Amino acid sequence: MEIQHIRNVAIIAHVDHGKTTLVDQLLYQSGMFRSAELDKLAGGQHNLVMDSDPLERERGITILSKNCAVNYTTPDGEEYKINIVDTPGHADFGGEVERVMKMADGVILIVDSFEGPMPQTRFVLGKALENGLNPIVVINKADRPDARCDDVADEVFELLIQLGADDETLDFPIVYASAKEGWARTDLDSGNDNMKPVFDAIIENVPAPACDEKTPLQMLVTTLDYSEYVGKIAVGRVFAGRIEKAQKVTVIDKQGKHTLQKIVDLYEFEGLGKRPVDWIECGDICAVAGLEPVDIGNTIACPDKPSPLPIISVDEPTMTMT
Ligand code: GDP
Repeated sequence: MEIQHIRNVAIIAHVDHGKTTLVDQLLYQSGMFRSAELDKLAGGQHNLVMDSDPLERERGITILSKNCAVNYTTPDGEEYKINIVDTPGHADFGGEVERVMKMADGVILIVDSFEGPMPQTRFVLGKALENGLNPIVVINKADRPDARCDDVADEVFELLIQLGADDETLDFPIVYASAKEGWARTDLDSGNDNMKPVFDAIIENVPAPACDEKTPLQMLVTTLDYSEYVGKIAVGRVFAGRIEKAQKVTVIDKQGKHTLQKIVDLYEFEGLGKRPVDWIECGDICAVAGLEPVDIGNTIACPDKPSPLPIISVDEPTMTMT
């Protein structure tokens, strides 16, 4: 898929504000919004990324799957892939929050319509701003009888001012949602009954990845995964060049040591799973199997011109939770 049609977004929230439910809804509704034209071609079938059955079975485990991807087709037929990366909400995971945000070009900030911003909202939002990521604010649980949507929107604005946000960031898009009931609205009175406004806000407000496809490969390893079939899996974002299956690469560790290795399998994210692919373009997020040694913070580079990406800072949390 072309870079212009990829979006990398991190999802951040205080615990229980509805991150899991919202991602589940996006996965569930992904692929439903197609033009009448495309629908006709598809024989009137709505093309869900996954059947609802396997999806139902996988529900509840999104919290464990750190990356997922949803496909979205705009009403005029443009197809997008949205990579969604999960971030731990707690300050104890300060280093991990930092790392995960390196993969994203924007964030979805979920705030409970009654509780408003909480300590973890502040912590993760502060990290997003430090990393130059602007938020799309989703005021969730708008179905609650005690919802205070307008007040909560004002509280988020205040919080952004306290965190030193610039004017552009303060002009954040707001979506009111009930992830539980599956609807989102930019105007609460609109009566819209699906999640389309969230998809649209992502497409419109999160910039497409910026990178130069002609430069040699550089991929930053952000997380590690493990499968009993293929062993260790390195997950991260390709910042330069492109990565190919069966390609020889140089893995550069944090001490600057180089090891020449070969990629066995390459995957992109699709729904809650991974799909084998032959190559991944710069700007996309992928999973690589067959490398050992490999670790978080390593750069996977082109053997002809191996150059490391800046080492990810893993600073300790500065905030005490109250
Ligand atoms: P997470 O900790 O941020 O992942 O939050 P969850 O998605 O697990 O949601 C926490 C609780 O809030 C669960 O009991 C959900 O059913 C509930 N919840 C999530 N979204 C909504 C919503 O839109 N409306 C209401 N009323 N409850 C919600």
